[in-house]
Amino acid sequence: MTLTLVPIPTSTIFFLSPSSPKPRPVRIRFKPSASSSSFPVQTRVTSTQSSHDTGVIIVGAGLAGLAAATRLSSENVPFLLLEASDEVGGRVRSDYVDGFILDRGFQIFITSYPEAKKLLDYEALNLQKFYSGARVYYNGEFHIVADPIRHFVDSLQSLTNPIGSILDKLRIASTRLGVLTKSDDEIMTANEVSTMELLRSIGFSESIIGRFFRPFFGGIFFDRDLETTSRLFDFIFKSLALGDNTIPAKGIGEIPKQLAAKLPSDSIRFNSRAISIDSEGFDSPAVILQTGEILRSELGVIVAVDKPEADKLLRDNGPNPAQNKPSRSTVCLYFTADRAEIPVRDPVLFINGSGEGIVNNMFFATNVAPSYGPPDKALISVSLIGTFDGVSDEDLTADVVRELSEWFKGSTSSTSTVRNWKHLKTYRIKYAQPNQSPPTNLMKDPKVGSGLYLCGDHLTSATFDGALVSGRRAVEALLRDRTVIRV
Ligand SMILES: Cc1cc2nc3c(=O)[nH]c(=O)nc-3n(C[C@H](O)[C@H](O)[C@H](O)COP(=O)(O)OP(=O)(O)OC[C@H]3O[C@@H](n4cnc5c(N)ncnc54)[C@H](O)[C@@H]3O)c2cc1C
Repeated sequence: MTLTLVPIPTSTIFFLSPSSPKPRPVRIRFKPSASSSSFPVQTRVTSTQSSHDTGVIIVGAGLAGLAAATRLSSENVPFLLLEASDEVGGRVRSDYVDGFILDRGFQIFITSYPEAKKLLDYEALNLQKFYSGARVYYNGEFHIVADPIRHFVDSLQSLTNPIGSILDKLRIASTRLGVLTKSDDEIMTANEVSTMELLRSIGFSESIIGRFFRPFFGGIFFDRDLETTSRLFDFIFKSLALGDNTIPAKGIGEIPKQLAAKLPSDSIRFNSRAISIDSEGFDSPAVILQTGEILRSELGVIVAVDKPEADKLLRDNGPNPAQNKPSRSTVCLYFTADRAEIPVRDPVLFINGSGEGIVNNMFFATNVAPSYGPPDKALISVSLIGTFDGVSDEDLTADVVRELSEWFKGSTSSTSTVRNWKHLKTYRIKYAQPNQSPPTNLMKDPKVGSGLYLCGDHLTSATFDGALVSGRRAVEALLRDRTVIRV
């Protein structure tokens, strides 16, 4: 991959006019930015090091970095996207192993995400739907919790099950109406408490909180204590009411790949880890790579990495890392069994409402998306919350098999028993999401210095949509600062 070199004198850049049939270079002069004396000096660029110029440099090709690149590309602003790994997607990636698609952790794409709707071609993603609701394991049995709009009959039948009282189920309906009347901006800036406090203040009983909300939203936030801000609860509750839970037929990693495919060729450099940012004495910062190479930006640098990495790269400039709350972690185990032998055919999510054991949720991935496995094989995905640091993969697998054997003992035979499932792979994801317990600011200012901008899910909400929004906002801030003057 070669570096996109843009031959631009300081403070000028060539735009391609989008309206001309043949792109015509338009000369634009950018407003010089304020003095950069406030920049942190992490690694000084010396005259002996090589240096190249480009328009905007984006560090990190996760959803946030890709959204930033997409926005710059739509404005015909030259950019270079640097990615430390060998592929785009960051936390949203899939592995392809022996005919199975293994998403790196259990991830669901909600079709109503507003920013995603603008950026993604859903048809091309061939989104495969989950059942709208969940099957709750409680007291040795499964109980359905169904979306009353999409599965009316199921929801009527579930009214009297032990997963909460009838009043609880009516409260779910009224909470749904409440979030639907609020705009996303209102939700993101509303007064906040923890999700647990919110649920209690609405009047939900401890039984529905423990049996449904704790495993369901705990599985989304990787936080069974439901400390996560009520803002995020409202946003996800609204998104679930308006959209479907899905996975792309070819894996969750197809989402970032689709964004990357629309960017100019050679605009992404893989295996390029940034180790520091230097801005001393320049309008716009430079990025120093692990190889020693220096890439100087003409217009600015957008740091689109996860929170711990951003803290390292920005040191003095970012929020104080000492104030960081512990991040959210998960472990995802994959198993396979003969497709004909699995106990369930439904594309439904199973959650653990028993208050016991280590499994939080699981599903038969090939029931949702048959393409996730070879034709005769089922793929089973099991999620735990936390790191399980002291437990070996073997012990964890054995514990999970023991636990799920109990769950499915009534619906399996001697050949279809959970003990016959073959373990495929375990993903331990230490940094799955930033901790979003109150106090939060889900609309953080992306600008952290002259010519230096930040994006990523830690600036907005720890969702696909939050990451996409943050990328766009970082570019908008940069373009605002670099107000163009035609010459
Ligand atoms: C297991 C799991 C399940 C999830 N489930 C859901 C879900 O169901 N629904 C939902 O909406 N959200 C979910 N999320 C959250 C969502 O995936 C994230 O919020 C979002 O993907 C974050 O994107 P990002 O671009 O901010 O960061 P990242 O995805 O972390 O991207 C950062 C990128 O920067 C690169 N990078 C890091 N350091 C450097 C460096 N020094 N130089 C160059 N490149 C660097 C990384 O390699 C990476 O590609 C889940 C997350 C996980 C982990």
